[in-house]
Amino acid sequence: METKKKNSSLLQLMEKYPDEVSARKYFECLRWENGIICPHCESRKRVYIYDDGRLYKCSECLKQFTVKIGTIFEGSALPLRKWLLAIYIEGSHKKGISSIQLAKDLGVTQKSAWFMLHRIRFALDNGSILKGVVEADESYFGGKDSNKHKIKKLKGSKKSVVVGAVERGGNVKALKVRFVGEDAVKFVVDNVERGSVLMTDEARHYTKICEKGFRHGSINHSGGKYVNGVIHTNTIEGFWSHLKRGINGIQHHVSDKHLQKYINVYSYRWNTREMTDFDRFEMTMKNLTGRLTYKELIGKE
Ligand SMILES: [Zn+2]
Repeated sequence: METKKKNSSLLQLMEKYPDEVSARKYFECLRWENGIICPHCESRKRVYIYDDGRLYKCSECLKQFTVKIGTIFEGSALPLRKWLLAIYIEGSHKKGISSIQLAKDLGVTQKSAWFMLHRIRFALDNGSILKGVVEADESYFGGKDSNKHKIKKLKGSKKSVVVGAVERGGNVKALKVRFVGEDAVKFVVDNVERGSVLMTDEARHYTKICEKGFRHGSINHSGGKYVNGVIHTNTIEGFWSHLKRGINGIQHHVSDKHLQKYINVYSYRWNTREMTDFDRFEMTMKNLTGRLTYKELIGKE
């Protein structure tokens, strides 16, 4: 039943947007549902539309643009319709899709498919702020002793450190950082609403989090007012396992450079696990601003 539903959705998508014009109109409606905004100067004033229906010109800065400018589609010669399919396929495969498979599905080169996947994954970071009861924790990825859940010292290690937080009954967010201590605190301050109750393990870097306006329950904090059993970090630990299984099982190896994009994908899947494939697709389509160039992708970050 599930498979049938999925297939019909993908089929519906192809039927609904049978060519480039319909795919572009669809994306224009999604992106500019509250009116056209110039991607160069963000003006909402008058825009001129050229005869081809594709090109626009801003009356404020006089620059030209298409709906692709300022999104992950900018500068890509691939048809928008193939992008739509790639986004749908990537979002609906529970364990992700390889660039080899996507290349076959779309009839593009593997290099193009790889590039599409990385751009899509780049766009999957959602800006939501976590609140309520939030579990925060860190985990380590890559390197030789990847089975160890935690190691205290990272000096000389090739491991990547990732800090994360999950709202109980809500979303997860995770970020690759350089140093766990200060960066973990900054991550919480940036991503969790003040006044939230933070659940962590006994890690020292969170001990002063109360000074930043958070209430804090730590696992070894036996004298606290929280009932035993409420203070745990099982949810975020569950997410780490999910992420590690995904990376080890499907992707085999993820370099430190690309780790954040995989984190974004797995966070996104986790956060949208209750959605239908089509709802997830549409949410992704609305969230495609930001552009990742090939240079940025292969170069330093
Ligand atoms: Zn403008």
